[in-house]
Amino acid sequence: MCGIMGFSGHEAQNSVEIVLGGLKSLEYRGYDSSGIAYFDLKGGKIKSVKKSGKLVNLSNEVNGNGKVKSDTAIGHIRWATHGKPTDINAHPHLDCSGKIAIVHNGIIENHVSLKNALAKKGHRFVTETDSEVIAHLIEDFIREKKTFYEAVRLTSLRLEGAFAILALSADEKSVAAVKFGPPLVIALKNGNFYAASDVSPLIEHTQDVIYLKNSEIAYFQGGKLSVGTFSGRKVSRAPVRIDWDSSRAAKSGFSHFMQKEIFEQPSCLLDTFSSRVSAGGRKGGLKVSLEGIKLTGDDISGASRIVFVACGSSYYASLASKYVLEKICGLPSVVEYGSEFRYENFPVLKSDIFVGVSQSGETADTNSALELARSEKAKVVSITNVPGSQITALSNRGVIYTHAGPEIGVASTKAFTTQLLCGVLLSLYIREKSGFIPEGGLNLEELFKDLVDLPKKAEEILFMDDAIKEIAKKYYKSANFLYLGRGILYPIALEGALKLKEISYIHAEGYPAGEMKHGPIALIDENMPVLFLLSKNMLSSKTISNMEEIKARGGKIIAVADYEPEIEGISDLIRIPETEGILSPVLYTIPLQLFAYHIAALKGTDIDQPRNLAKSVTVE
Ligand code: GLU
Repeated sequence: MCGIMGFSGHEAQNSVEIVLGGLKSLEYRGYDSSGIAYFDLKGGKIKSVKKSGKLVNLSNEVNGNGKVKSDTAIGHIRWATHGKPTDINAHPHLDCSGKIAIVHNGIIENHVSLKNALAKKGHRFVTETDSEVIAHLIEDFIREKKTFYEAVRLTSLRLEGAFAILALSADEKSVAAVKFGPPLVIALKNGNFYAASDVSPLIEHTQDVIYLKNSEIAYFQGGKLSVGTFSGRKVSRAPVRIDWDSSRAAKSGFSHFMQKEIFEQPSCLLDTFSSRVSAGGRKGGLKVSLEGIKLTGDDISGASRIVFVACGSSYYASLASKYVLEKICGLPSVVEYGSEFRYENFPVLKSDIFVGVSQSGETADTNSALELARSEKAKVVSITNVPGSQITALSNRGVIYTHAGPEIGVASTKAFTTQLLCGVLLSLYIREKSGFIPEGGLNLEELFKDLVDLPKKAEEILFMDDAIKEIAKKYYKSANFLYLGRGILYPIALEGALKLKEISYIHAEGYPAGEMKHGPIALIDENMPVLFLLSKNMLSSKTISNMEEIKARGGKIIAVADYEPEIEGISDLIRIPETEGILSPVLYTIPLQLFAYHIAALKGTDIDQPRNLAKSVTVE
């Protein structure tokens, strides 16, 4: 859940600056406290500074201490799992001698037994965290005359749970980076070593990075980098080139990353489909090529269902993809929560095709569910935004990248809409391989046209930003909201409600419009705004009847619609462009993002880093 960043430079003196800068780009991952440990070239010792609260507290403290000369530093931005977010519990943690410092992302599940054993041997613990044992365990192996690298390797073998660790040794002037679970990316440029939880702090220094795999340790000393496994085998891996340039990770004049990311959607949508879809041959229509997807015709004809596994917004994108798949492929699908999957006795069939959906590709719950599916010999594909992430290694039938670029705002926006689009592409791919002809046919030519027009239509909605802000002004003091939609718009109602909850802290529920009368209607009164999603071509008369039911009970109606609904008494209408039904979730999502954004901005909440949340949930 947290972010870690390390730097060691051959002849550098500014490691603290580099690591603090890197933590800034990782701040979306956790932000309840932070800290840095560095090798102080003047005193020849490790120094550490730790502060509760936002990163700015740490930066102020470090900068207030005057100019520091340091060639090596490791830093951490925390999302506490064990122990309150206090100064003392913030990482880095030091061993008893103060010669070893560590930062850790993840959870050490056997920390209690390790701590008891180490305490009996005389180690003094000063924090309430699970992570502190790591520093003492390394120290313990060093007391047994192991080298620092060996001590880190043996420690890694003793730890249970999930961990990405950076460890710094003052005696050996070296840094070790360990991965088991949470992500860790390293890079070597001009004799300088960089390590971080994701590529965003690295891209300003280099675009060539190495994604460490599970059970691997990178070791950097005196300008030299080596990588090995926990079992001691040497690993050689060529770097991969990242094509995100650093400007895409900056706010570029927007007030928040979330706002910038909402506005990036037209170009992200284009990037998602442009190289994969083309007008199909002489008969017209559309052709989809998903490079990297290795599902064969036999895999598809042998499958009796598609199983989506995801969490949060990715779960809602999967719910929408289920509608698309069933509609155009006639293939039943189920959507499972990653966090529930392993505990609900789901009968995995060898013939199942699993689709894991995760922005970061590091969502521990989703990845564990996919691991289970693989152990039962199911086929796995994934939809993710991050090349080289953990989910890609689990996907034995390939990966569809969303191509949304780095998403920094904690509340997902462009990653969500590009996931929706990837769901459509995957469905078209499966349909093509299975030869299924949907009832009423699917006009591929029309669909192609609508796909090509989608970025333009997304842009048209973004032009409504000011009007949506005005609507937000009317409602931002409301305490509750209902979001209602039918069919494929129901998952978008869920996503709209989630956006509002996440960034404005207003309670909101998404419901299928037809379910409202089975319970939530009891909540309706003049203080309850109800946001309807409706489309001319999707059960609109039934949704209008549901609106009448709200009106009759005094509720306020906001409608997002692709036509002028024939009903009096809609308080506010956001009229969006029409598109083919299976693409409509993308367009309906955008006004809901803007609405939540403006409500949160009016309330003055911390939009990019909402309380209690973290971007990639790399712990269970
Ligand atoms: N479990 C550690 C702690 O609570 C690390 C949490 C994190 O990944 O931020 O300090």
